[in-house]
Amino acid sequence: MAAIRLSHLTKKFGAFTAVDALDLLIPDKEFVALLGPSGCGKTTTMNMIAGIEQATEGQILFDDRDVRRLPPNQRDVGFVFQNYAIFTHMTVYDNLAFGLSVRKLARAEIDRRVREMAALMRLEDRLEWPSSKLSVNELQKVAIGRSAITEPAIFLLDEPLSNLDAAFRAFMRTELKHLQHQFQQTMVYVTHDQIEAMSLADRIAVMNLGELQQYGTPAEVYNRPRNTFVANFMGSPSMNLLPCRLIAEAGALCFGFGEAGRLDAGGDGAMQHRARAAAGAEVIFGVRPEDLEIAPPDGPGGLKGVVSFVEPVGPRTIVHLKLAEQTVKVAKEKRYKVSIGAAVRVTAPMAKCHLFDAASGEAIGLG
Ligand code: ATP
Repeated sequence: MAAIRLSHLTKKFGAFTAVDALDLLIPDKEFVALLGPSGCGKTTTMNMIAGIEQATEGQILFDDRDVRRLPPNQRDVGFVFQNYAIFTHMTVYDNLAFGLSVRKLARAEIDRRVREMAALMRLEDRLEWPSSKLSVNELQKVAIGRSAITEPAIFLLDEPLSNLDAAFRAFMRTELKHLQHQFQQTMVYVTHDQIEAMSLADRIAVMNLGELQQYGTPAEVYNRPRNTFVANFMGSPSMNLLPCRLIAEAGALCFGFGEAGRLDAGGDGAMQHRARAAAGAEVIFGVRPEDLEIAPPDGPGGLKGVVSFVEPVGPRTIVHLKLAEQTVKVAKEKRYKVSIGAAVRVTAPMAKCHLFDAASGEAIGLG
């Protein structure tokens, strides 16, 4: 097993920089997701770790071993891609056994490991099937099993679930966690799906335009986003990001939202300190839909809004509110009832709110 250290890792295609000076430490036995929108450099990073792509600059260490000049087959990595690369003319058994046969393991040992992997992947009753007869879901299970069975120190998975249907994706997420638990491998997982990253990873590296935006546990990137990109990318629906005016009043600061009203930055709390740190800057106020509250229109405080749309989405109801010049989303429980056109007030507990610099997008006062 191995920790992976990327230092200043850069990949250029001609004049275009696909990965820009990436520094990342992936601890031994951890499950790390590389997350970001299409084209942000996730696969290129993965390919450099695997040795499929040569880095333009920077270092790749597996523990203390510099692997940058090693070919893929000498790096002890296993990988699985979005499009299952399995031998369709072979049986499931032979596909699972392939990597072990190449390594010339004893037949009894190969048989033991193939049956163990088949049980883990719930493929026991498919072992003698030709792979060409398998469903798309089963093919990807074979592809994952075939790579994991050789127990590489590092296991790289590039969007392995994106071709699968939603129910099976959820099932496979659990299976992948079991797999990692059993084999204790260092796993790097490329995905553009933040829910997948949140549910699987010990840590998430959020990337955009070839640059690392934030690296932390799912709770850290969700609760303490370092910039508006991360704030917006994590969470569904995404965080409300509302440009506002900082207003000083009677020695305290509040946030002005035009005709919709003001929100008090709250006595001596952390938000008051953040607002002070932001003095003079254009700011963006951030609040997650689940952290907003809807109250009757005539109480004190909060912002005035009108319900413009109500969206039932499975376990929750998303209420869209029109404030004076902006729109916010509020996540309520499944049975929440409100009429379109109703006048309401929306309040935000300051301890759960965020503040960003409008020019740089960076979080203010995160420390
Ligand atoms: P996706 O999920 O769409 O694969 P990604 O985040 O994995 O996105 P990469 O595949 O790493 O992104 O690509 C990063 C950028 O580098 C993209 O703009 C892509 O077009 C570019 N790129 C990748 N490979 C090459 C190549 N061989 N030649 C030129 N440009 C490339």
